[in-house]
Amino acid sequence: MITHATIHFNDTGTPVADAFDDVYFSNEDGLAESDFVFYQHNQIDERLKSHPRKHFVIAETGFGTGLNFLNAWQRFNQCSEKKAERLHFISFEKFPIRKEDLTKALNNWPQLSKYAEQLLAQYPDALPGCHRLHFGNVTLDLWIGDVKDSLAQLNYGSAGLVDAWFLDGFAPSKNPDMWQQSLFDAMAHLGREQATFATFTAAGFVRRGLKDAGFEVKKVKGYGRKREMIVGQLTATTLKANCPAPYQRQARALNKVAIIGGGIASSLLLHRLSARNIAATLFCADGDLAQGASHNNQGALYPHLQADVSPSSEFFAHSFAYARRLYDQLLSEGFAFDHQWCGVLLQGVKEEMRKRHANLVAKDNWPSWLIHKVDAEQASELAAVDIPYGGLFIPQGGWLSPPQLVQALTNAACKKVAHELNFNTPIRSLSQQDGQWYLNGEQQTYGPFDDVFICMGEHSDSLLPGQGLALQSVRGQVSHLETSSASSKLNTVLCHKGYFTPSSQGAHCMGATFTKDTKERDIRAEDNDTNWQQFADFYGECNWTEELGTVKGAKAAIRATLSDHLPLFGQYAQDHEYMKAFPQLGVGVWQQAEPLEHEFSGLHLFTGLGARGLCTAPICAEALVASLCDEPLPVSLRVDQALHPARFIIRGLKRGQIT
Ligand code: SAM
Repeated sequence: MITHATIHFNDTGTPVADAFDDVYFSNEDGLAESDFVFYQHNQIDERLKSHPRKHFVIAETGFGTGLNFLNAWQRFNQCSEKKAERLHFISFEKFPIRKEDLTKALNNWPQLSKYAEQLLAQYPDALPGCHRLHFGNVTLDLWIGDVKDSLAQLNYGSAGLVDAWFLDGFAPSKNPDMWQQSLFDAMAHLGREQATFATFTAAGFVRRGLKDAGFEVKKVKGYGRKREMIVGQLTATTLKANCPAPYQRQARALNKVAIIGGGIASSLLLHRLSARNIAATLFCADGDLAQGASHNNQGALYPHLQADVSPSSEFFAHSFAYARRLYDQLLSEGFAFDHQWCGVLLQGVKEEMRKRHANLVAKDNWPSWLIHKVDAEQASELAAVDIPYGGLFIPQGGWLSPPQLVQALTNAACKKVAHELNFNTPIRSLSQQDGQWYLNGEQQTYGPFDDVFICMGEHSDSLLPGQGLALQSVRGQVSHLETSSASSKLNTVLCHKGYFTPSSQGAHCMGATFTKDTKERDIRAEDNDTNWQQFADFYGECNWTEELGTVKGAKAAIRATLSDHLPLFGQYAQDHEYMKAFPQLGVGVWQQAEPLEHEFSGLHLFTGLGARGLCTAPICAEALVASLCDEPLPVSLRVDQALHPARFIIRGLKRGQIT
C-alpha cells in the first residue's frame, strides 16, 4: 500500500515534506530554479529542434508537486521549430501528494494554471505502478512506488528509453535511501545514446556515482546564490536491456496501416493511432460499427481483481483506471455515450465466491477507493433498493453503452486524423508479397499495406496464415428486462453470477450466459430463462423485483478468449521463429542465437478481450501502438509479459512442450 506525503506550507508558502524535513522546491523562485536546473541544463529547447525521434523522453526522480513536469510541458509547447512532435515525461513518486495539497501547492504558480488544472483533473488515486495521463501531445507516466522498484518494472531494450534525466529528490543528506548507486546505474541503462542529466546537488558521492555509471559529469554554477550543481551526458549506451530478449517487442514505422474489425479493439486502435497522427484504413464486414461482441446496450465497467497482486490483478486494476481516464476525457471533449458511473456491487452467490471476497478483504492489497467491503445495509443504500446481502463495492465502476462508446472513439479518432472507414467490406484472405500485405475482399484486393491489425473478435484466427492461434469462443446472451417502477430506482450495477444494470431506455440488461465452443448467435428462449433464473435465485425475494419478468428482447454474441483469460496484442508469432532465435529456451537459457525474424512481419493481433474489453482494451491499444512507435509502455514488464503475443510459444519452449 502507498503512503501519501504529509506536508505543511512554510512562511513563504512553499510545501515542505514532514518526513524529510525538506522543501519540494526552492523558497525563492521554485519555478525559475526548476527551469534553470532541469530544463535548461539538459538543453532541451536546442535538442528538440534536431531530435531524431518523434517523441522526446524526460524521466524524473520524485514527481512531488509536478512543478518540473508542468514547466517542461509549458516550455515544450512554447518551443518553436521543434522537430519532436511529442513530449513523454516519466516520473517516479514514492509518497504521492494528496490532491487537496497538490491543488494548494500549485496555486503558487498562476502562470501555469492552464496546465495545472489539466493535471489536477486527471491526477490519479494512489495505486502502485504506472499511471499514464494524456494531455494532447504531452504524455505523463506517473509511476507510483519507490523509484528502485519502479525502475525494475520499466520495460526497455538495450537502446534505452530516456533522452534527459531530471535527477530531483530531496537533498541527498535528507533522503539517502534514494541516492544510491543502483539508481545511477539504472539511469545509465535507461539512457538513450547521448542522454543527459541535470541535478541541483553537487554532492561528491553523486558525482562519482554518476561517473561510475557511465556519465561524463561536469560541475556548473548553481541557480541564484547556489554555488554549484552538476550536469552530464552518457558517454556510450550501456546496452543493458531490462526486458528479456524473447519478450522484446519490435518497433516499426507505421505508414500504410490496415485494421480489420469494427468493435472496441478497432476503435481504440484508431483512437491511439490518431494521438500519434497515424492514419489507418478500416475494413469492417458489417454495415456499421459494434455489431459483434461490442453490441450490447449496456456493458459493466469494473476491474477483475484477485486477493493477491498478481500480474493479472495489476493489469486489471491499472487498465480500469486508464479506461476511466480515457472515457472521461472523451466525454470532456464532447463525444457522448450513455453511461452511469454508479459503482458496481459484486455479490457472492456461492460459498466459494464469498470466500474469495473475504480473502480479498483480509489480504488488504487494494485501496478502498478501488474496492471495499459493504454489508447488506450499505449495499441497499448504494443500490437505492433492498439488497439482502453484502459484498464488495467498486465505487468508480458503472455501466456504459458499448456501441455508443465505439462510435464516440471512432468519431474522436476521425476528427483528428483522416482515417478511411470501409463498411460491408468482408476480407476473405490475406496475402503477403515483397514484405507487404494485401487484403482480399469479395470483389477487390486492397493494399499494399505495411501493417495489418486483426481485431476481429472470435474471427481473429480466421485469416491467419501459419500455425494460427488457440482462440476459444464463448457465446453470451444478454436479456433485456422491462423496467418496473420499483426496479427503476436501482442505482448501481449488480454482479451476482451474471450482471444486472440500472434501467436505461425502459429496460435492464440482465446477463449473461456462458456457452463454450459455439459461434451461433441466434436468440434462445432457454438462455433468457437461464439469465432470469440466475438473477431470481439471488434477488427473487426482494420486493423491488416482484414486478419484473417481462423480457423485451435479447442479444447474443461471441466472446473471444485465450486459455489464460488475458488479452493478446502484438506481432503474430510462430513457434519456429522462437526456436531458431532462442534454441536453448528449453534449458532456461535466453541468449539469442540470431535476430528474431517474423515470417509474417507486420501482421499484428489484438484479440482475446473476452467479456472484459471495456476495461482492458484501452490500455492494450495504447501499449500496442506505443510499442510499435518505440515509446515507453504504459504497463509494467511483468504485465507486458503476461499479455505478450508470443507468451504461449515462449512458455511452451521453456517447458519443453514445443520441440
Ligand atoms: N520534482 C518535484 C516537483 O517538481 O515538485 C519535487 C521533488 S521533491 C524535492 C522530491 C520527491 O521525491 C518527493 O515528492 C518525494 O516523495 C520523492 N521521493 C523521495 N524518495 C523517493 C523514492 N525512493 N522513490 C520515489 N520518489 C521518492
